[in-house]
Amino acid sequence: MQFTIEKTTQSKLPSVDFDQLVFGKIFSDHMLVADCIAGEWQQPAIKPYGKFEIAPSLSALHHAQSIFEGLKAYRSVNGDVTFFRLPDNAARMNVSAERMAMPPIPQELFVEGIKQLVAIDKGFVPSGDELALYVRPVYFATDEAIGVKASLNYRLIIFTTPTGPFYAEPLKVMIETEYSRSSEGGTGFAKAAGNYGGSFYPTRRAIQRGYHQLIWTDARENKYVEESGSMNLMFVFNGVLTTPPLSHSKLAGITRDSLLKIASDLQIPVEVREISVDEIQQRFDDGSLNECFGTGTAVGVSHIAMIGHKEREMVLAPFDQRPVASKLGKHLIDIKRGAVSDSHGWVTRI
Ligand SMILES: *Cc1c(COP(=O)(O)O)cnc(C)c1O
Repeated sequence: MQFTIEKTTQSKLPSVDFDQLVFGKIFSDHMLVADCIAGEWQQPAIKPYGKFEIAPSLSALHHAQSIFEGLKAYRSVNGDVTFFRLPDNAARMNVSAERMAMPPIPQELFVEGIKQLVAIDKGFVPSGDELALYVRPVYFATDEAIGVKASLNYRLIIFTTPTGPFYAEPLKVMIETEYSRSSEGGTGFAKAAGNYGGSFYPTRRAIQRGYHQLIWTDARENKYVEESGSMNLMFVFNGVLTTPPLSHSKLAGITRDSLLKIASDLQIPVEVREISVDEIQQRFDDGSLNECFGTGTAVGVSHIAMIGHKEREMVLAPFDQRPVASKLGKHLIDIKRGAVSDSHGWVTRI
């Protein structure tokens, strides 16, 4: 696949303070842009990161026919740049595209495009266990037409941002039993823009009560926990790593899948099954809720310090007493950075 490449004449790199990275505020020098016009992919271009003009009638703005992905490039312990399960992100982008009635993105465009883009901006890939270059592909409808129907034309943009830790403080999450993120038959399993826009109002109510995030429950009964923000959710009950099964309403996290496999490798017992809000409270009371954490590319493994439900605040064990999440999180980052062997063939290097 051929890419048109136009490099910047004024790199931002000297102005980036890698000791003060916050999530998603500084963008690297270049972006990739590819248009799909009436089903035909045009030659993709890598060019300086910058603004572009849009029409007021741009279809994506009106009906949220827009999807995205999130992955990271890591600085390995020997200085190379690595990707973790990059083809899985390409595949998931197309799962989202299909659900949103958008044409698939050729795997080669996605995978090779990201490799070339990051190779050009590799100076922006920071070094350290908590640091990485976050890669954001976004794909949206570009018809200038406000009819309520799938667009004929689309644009893929991929840009990158050097990042530090996603959450600055220990996470407090609130179990949401009134609003839903998604339901059976909905779009929850797709990284579709509207899923996130729709979550902001309930999330803001939790933030106003002193929490950082919500734990979503099933839309039918609000009885079983699903996921939290843009993280899948895992618990340790009596030493058993336990997580809800995938469904239409949950995003199939690549981190979730990887941690389940790493847990088996490390001989940590695993159960994938429904977890009710009642069970969480019961296990908190009888002391068998040992750990709770969120998982995702942005956060890696993120310990949850406190779970709120209605008026109740369940404060979990201090982070230094959480052997399972700590071991899993460390092993995952060690694979990503090439510090331990990659027995699953997950890592690619540029
Ligand atoms: C992206 C995302 C995740 C995590 O997926 P990873 O592939 O592990 O990054 C979990 N839940 C939601 C809602 C997400 O958008």
